[in-house]
Amino acid sequence: MATDEPFSEKLRVPEALTFDDVLLRPKESRVEPDDADTTTRVSTNVRLSVPVLSAAMDTVTEADLAIEMARQGGLGVLHRNMTPEEMADQIEAVKRADELIIRDVVTADPDQTVHEVDEMMERAGVSGAPVVDEDDVVLGIISGTDIRPYLEVGDRDEVREAMTDEVITASEDVTARDALELMYEHKIERVPVVDEDDRLTGLVTMQGILARREYDEAARSDDGSLVVGAAVGPFETDRAQIADEAGVDVLFIDCAHAHNLNVIDSAREIKQEVDADVVVGNVGTREAAEAVVDFADGIKVGIGPGSICTTRVVSGSGMPQITAVAEVADVATRHDVPVIADGGIRYSGDAIKAIAAGADAVMLGSYFAGTDEAPGRVITMNGKKYKQYRGMGSVGAMNDGGGDRYLKEEDEDEEFVPEGVEAATPYKGPLAQELHQLVGGMQSGMGYVGAETIPEFKERSEFVRVSSAGQTESHAHDVVITDEAPNYSPDS
Ligand code: 5GP
Repeated sequence: MATDEPFSEKLRVPEALTFDDVLLRPKESRVEPDDADTTTRVSTNVRLSVPVLSAAMDTVTEADLAIEMARQGGLGVLHRNMTPEEMADQIEAVKRADELIIRDVVTADPDQTVHEVDEMMERAGVSGAPVVDEDDVVLGIISGTDIRPYLEVGDRDEVREAMTDEVITASEDVTARDALELMYEHKIERVPVVDEDDRLTGLVTMQGILARREYDEAARSDDGSLVVGAAVGPFETDRAQIADEAGVDVLFIDCAHAHNLNVIDSAREIKQEVDADVVVGNVGTREAAEAVVDFADGIKVGIGPGSICTTRVVSGSGMPQITAVAEVADVATRHDVPVIADGGIRYSGDAIKAIAAGADAVMLGSYFAGTDEAPGRVITMNGKKYKQYRGMGSVGAMNDGGGDRYLKEEDEDEEFVPEGVEAATPYKGPLAQELHQLVGGMQSGMGYVGAETIPEFKERSEFVRVSSAGQTESHAHDVVITDEAPNYSPDS
């Protein structure tokens, strides 16, 4: 505003809309929801079969949830209220989860007794073990069938007498197909992987191969491992490097206001130092998108829409999410950079509206915080089950680290000025069920618009504006709900 302009000019304000302000206009369609393809891109090099990310929050995403997200085709983003080393361990845990070659192999010693090895295998939850010498050279393999009936071997006999010593092994470059062929041909269930000196380097199991097949939509990197994301503070170059070395696929610059020029300088530096893709966020305007679009592998949108977030009331600043996504997408689309809509999504309908507004994928916190895979235990209040869910800008979460997300310095003498609350969310059961409802609802939205793919949906979808009467009409009304629906609760 020029200095001679009257302040009242500021009140000629543009309108900004959010989820409940709009609906998708139904269109002619031949697309059955089940046939709608939800494949998308979240960053330059990472594609997902399901356009959904779990939030980098300490009550939402740690390794367990990230593993399940990737198995179901989405992406889990690890929070950063942990040391960089702990984060590296969690990244490695996700990367190892569905590995063809198991590295953490339970082995037996030829001098152990049959009884000892039987107990050891039971404790470790495995049904067979390669037998190795002190140099890890494979001498044989022992399995439950070799020892359990104790037909020819006694309980106190040594493993070397009971083991099978003609071992079928494979080398490091073994594929799932090669391993299966070996297993069928020799009627075995596990194949030790060895180096050129016959030293054990890993193990491929039939059970492992079948488990991988179960997740045919899983999001995987080129090497077949599950994809994983991780949050880094805007100035945490060290953490970014450690996470990158641990094999993270996407780093998320985790800041409540990424249109801060110091944050952008630092994000640019981080991008130059890592191999992983770097998604920058959060932003909420066209100008912010323009400031990062030349180097970001993806842009994350959301200034204050989150369920546990109080940024807008505390700071008086923010952007209703549908308008924010559309502004950012205007810029990002011209540069072919993916957009992620982060926060405020309560129903599958909100998620697909965010895609119509220009997002390529959506990120959710509260929706997943109540699942079994999220950190934390189930608590019971007034006979109902809940799990804890807290904002990363709440006092509790900032005390545990990460205050720099809000560009706040830690100062022992002063209280934090929080931008989030600590809460509880209804317990929901397994993540796979929740994600199924979310994605199924999004596919219904694609069916109503007649779009078979996400890019087609983004182009074909149109919004109508909804009055508050229209909004009331959208929800279940004038009835008393007798049975809970798996995808709707009026007070979500
Ligand atoms: P939800 O899906 O629960 O509506 O929103 C989750 C998103 O809210 C997160 O991905 C993150 O961007 C944002 N968020 C998490 N904690 C806080 C907080 O304490 N304050 C603010 N302003 N945003 C938060």
